[in-house]
Amino acid sequence: MKSNIIEFQNYQRKCPPGVKYTKRVKRKDISRVRKKKIEAVVSELLEEKGVEASGGVDIVSIAKWEGFLVQKVYLPPETVGFLAVNEEEFIEGTESHKWIVINRGFVSAENEAGLELKKSRFITAHEYGHYMLHRKDLKKFAHKDTGESSSLEDLEADYFARSILMPLDIFQIVCRMLAGSISRSEEEEDYDRKVEYLSDIFKVTKECVRRRLEDLLELLN
Ligand SMILES: [Zn+2]
Repeated sequence: MKSNIIEFQNYQRKCPPGVKYTKRVKRKDISRVRKKKIEAVVSELLEEKGVEASGGVDIVSIAKWEGFLVQKVYLPPETVGFLAVNEEEFIEGTESHKWIVINRGFVSAENEAGLELKKSRFITAHEYGHYMLHRKDLKKFAHKDTGESSSLEDLEADYFARSILMPLDIFQIVCRMLAGSISRSEEEEDYDRKVEYLSDIFKVTKECVRRRLEDLLELLN
């Protein structure tokens, strides 16, 4: 499994239309092959559920459609969220076999509009990603997230979350639209402005948008 993890380096590759990205990034990441596989899983899922992605994918409705009870509660600060599945009986304290819980008490240094909504959407998508990618055929399955994790499974669930919240096709279309309405200047300021627009449109954090733009650079080159 370890060979699936690569050190991803981005050296000023060709940018997707409408996006200028020249920063050099080096971080632990999953392989390009695995990313393509996850894109395929997401694309099939959105098609199967007939999801409209134009105004930001409604990830909570998708999880509910799958039978999940999705709740936001106050958890200890070290827990970001968790996922529990038990096909045989209801999960204790619920009347559901599938449960996603988000910590609504997360603390962040970022000062960003709608941050709680954006973060909780991401965590929901991340937990749902574990269900789609890692549960296999287990009747009982649980996963707890404690924040910064670089395990292979968490990197994959993060990728799944970015992919489903910013679906490849529509994300590229919006990037192209921004190219028409915003100066093609290579200034950092313009890049930041595009990130901000994308963050508002797809209802994800700016950091999440930056990572998705990196994903695109890797996938499309
Ligand atoms: Zn996780």
